Amino acid sequence: MPSYVPDTILAQGAGEGHDLTGAVVPPIHLATTFLRPSEGYSSTGWSYSRYGYPGLEKPEATLKVLEGAADCRLFGSGMSAMTAVVMALRPGDHCVFPIDMYHGLKTWLKAYAAHWGTRIDHVDMTDQDKVRAAVIPGVTRLVWLETPSNPHWHIYDIANLAEIAHEAGAKLVVDSTVATPVLTQPIKFGADIVVHSATKYLNGHSDVLAGAALTAANDSFWERVVFNRDYHGGILGQFQSALLLRGMRTLHLRVARSCESAMALADALERHPKVTAVFYPGLPTHPGHSLAARQMTGGFGGMLSIVVAGGASQADRVLTRTHIWKPATSLGGVESLIERREAIEGPDSHVDPSLLRLSVGIEATADLIDDLFSALDASIGS
Ligand code: PLP
Repeated sequence: MPSYVPDTILAQGAGEGHDLTGAVVPPIHLATTFLRPSEGYSSTGWSYSRYGYPGLEKPEATLKVLEGAADCRLFGSGMSAMTAVVMALRPGDHCVFPIDMYHGLKTWLKAYAAHWGTRIDHVDMTDQDKVRAAVIPGVTRLVWLETPSNPHWHIYDIANLAEIAHEAGAKLVVDSTVATPVLTQPIKFGADIVVHSATKYLNGHSDVLAGAALTAANDSFWERVVFNRDYHGGILGQFQSALLLRGMRTLHLRVARSCESAMALADALERHPKVTAVFYPGLPTHPGHSLAARQMTGGFGGMLSIVVAGGASQADRVLTRTHIWKPATSLGGVESLIERREAIEGPDSHVDPSLLRLSVGIEATADLIDDLFSALDASIGS
């Protein structure tokens, strides 16, 4: 692909017209198997769709260019991409993960690590000394971070953590789901592997479950990640791949709009008397703000969280009083979502029970503010 700026790469993500029909979007090939000449090998490079198929190439190539990666693989979910990376480790290998991170992966790690002998430590990654103390040179194989992190939107320093990881002989993995390649390209800061829940912003319409893994180098570790996708059968399906490509073509516009509204909301919410805390890296009061300003380009993301006065029951009342904000989990879609995070995460959650997580969609900013403020005013202390 020529070296266009990301907006053009995304808008043109479908590539040239289809060779045979002139169609301006690629066809969906449903074949699971491909003809092999008598020598036994396919002449097209495709053999069986668990390893790859024609429609997968465009979204993978587009993401690869955006992230500045050496290779990209799409999976059937963010979890399948992420578990394929962790399962490329050997039993006994040690990994360092953040405390603040996607709880579903945390849950899996707890069960998986115990079962397969992978050693996992969770540390506060805003404190580099704690990460330095946690890594074991020659034994730690992965340092994993998610930035901005769920649901407090901490900003972790990719470049510094990459240095710590590399000094110990470990790889740095970044879950960049919330930043998206529009706002941050982790490989530029030294990350070795980037993962996404493509279910979120990359697709952007809450109708596809998908994941992505990308690598800075085509090395033996990456070969094991690819092996895991090929042999665990984690590949993204043909229909989902076409929908994902369609969603990605407007990623830059959606992310820009969400960032703009999230900033306006955070600013207004900070002054709301019934909101006791606002977590958003765009706010100058956020501890990671100056780092975010260096590490993120074009905005601070579309995710923010608030703590409301009066505890969990009051927070639940807010959820039932919004109209535009839909009470549902997930993030990164065109529609705005609101959830009480602790209720979703369950008993292991480290999150304040009155924290509401907000995924800012692309509705009009003023409507989003009015709807949330009306719900807050009607719910708390009433
Ligand atoms: N990483 C982050 C930051 C997420 O928010 C999620 C899902 O909510 C995942 C990973 C898992 O992705 P998926 O639901 O596509 O498996």
